[in-house]
Amino acid sequence: MSVAGTAVRINWQPRPDKAKLGLVEDGFEFSASDIHAGFLDRETLHRILAAQSAQNIETIRRAAEKTLLERCGDTVRLRGLVEFSNRCVCDCNYCGIRRSNRAVKRYTLSLAEIVECAQWCAAKGYGSLVLQAGERRDEKFAAFVAEAVRAIKAETCSTELPEGLGITLCVGEQSEATYARWFEAGAHRYLLRMESFKPALFAALHPREQTYAARREALATLKRLGYQVGTGVMIGLPGQSLDDLVDDLLAFRDLGVDMIGMGPYIPHVQAPLGGADQIGSAQARLGLSLRMIAAARLLLKNVNIAATTALQALSETGREQGLRFGANVIMPQVTPVRVRSQYTLYDGKPCLDDNAEQCCECLRKRIESVGRRVLYQAWGDSAHFAQRRALAKA
Ligand code: SAH
Repeated sequence: MSVAGTAVRINWQPRPDKAKLGLVEDGFEFSASDIHAGFLDRETLHRILAAQSAQNIETIRRAAEKTLLERCGDTVRLRGLVEFSNRCVCDCNYCGIRRSNRAVKRYTLSLAEIVECAQWCAAKGYGSLVLQAGERRDEKFAAFVAEAVRAIKAETCSTELPEGLGITLCVGEQSEATYARWFEAGAHRYLLRMESFKPALFAALHPREQTYAARREALATLKRLGYQVGTGVMIGLPGQSLDDLVDDLLAFRDLGVDMIGMGPYIPHVQAPLGGADQIGSAQARLGLSLRMIAAARLLLKNVNIAATTALQALSETGREQGLRFGANVIMPQVTPVRVRSQYTLYDGKPCLDDNAEQCCECLRKRIESVGRRVLYQAWGDSAHFAQRRALAKA
């Protein structure tokens, strides 16, 4: 089977001569010359995730980068990240701002503060922003988010962006009515990570009242309502196998999602999941996360994939590496510095005291350092969504 446009074939034949020289550690060698993405079956995906030799990893990286450049171009799309509240009704076992962590000082930004962050993004040409928060399902919260979305849309219009900034929401599981209300207000993308598509692992990550079925249902609802939908998983969780991650990749494909946001699991001291002694080293989890990004790019081709902040928590250059392995979205931190340290999902979160101005400048340089350029003044939607819509119309 071959897939037009993306030429990536993986040749599994071991080359004994090179193996003898110690150049191949994986017992096989990827050949980049004539790969077809259609070969990405379970076994191939597993081998991509398992790859250890520098040579194989570089071949995988190049193949992913080639697919990215062909299918999405060389631009990196920015979404200013506004973590507008750390109040949360959920009690996820891995998360630092879970409801039962009493050590966290809770905050919610005011409408004016949120709009100010948005205007700053618009002035910098970011084109889009993400409103992220802990989860609440009360009417007051639903109304507040709708109001914030409307205000951002109204206050960030310009010649380049006549409809204002693009808005991605990331505020967890909500009722269909709430999702519809926010969509109507003007949010057009929604990120809801599944965290793991393996039911048993999902259950180990969450209290009993947070169910796998409800989260899957929420993803389906978002799609039905017309959002561009993103999901993702944590990588390197205690008890997670490479097979589980292959299943996650195949689930992304089967769900037909438009965006992927995923990154390494990083323990938080006040969260019960812990598992520091059961997970790979920071280096190993970073490497695996990069290979997951590459595998997702090769498999899904034209979706938007974020180089997440968690990558940078494990390495100073984590996000740039994410870009090199096939990611095309970065979410620069624009949360006001005064509350930023209260939104610690995991230990060692970077950029806690840089102000947004510094983040912006440093990011542009980082993006250009890996030969890519920033897409300014545009929403930077996922090409997969455009394709999905065109197919639906046809
Ligand atoms: N309440 C929203 C936002 C959650 S925070 C929602 O449920 O969608 C955003 C993401 O941070 C989570 O989806 C999770 O994947 C990630 N995260 C939380 N704790 C983490 C940890 N300890 N290590 C790595 N990622 C973590």
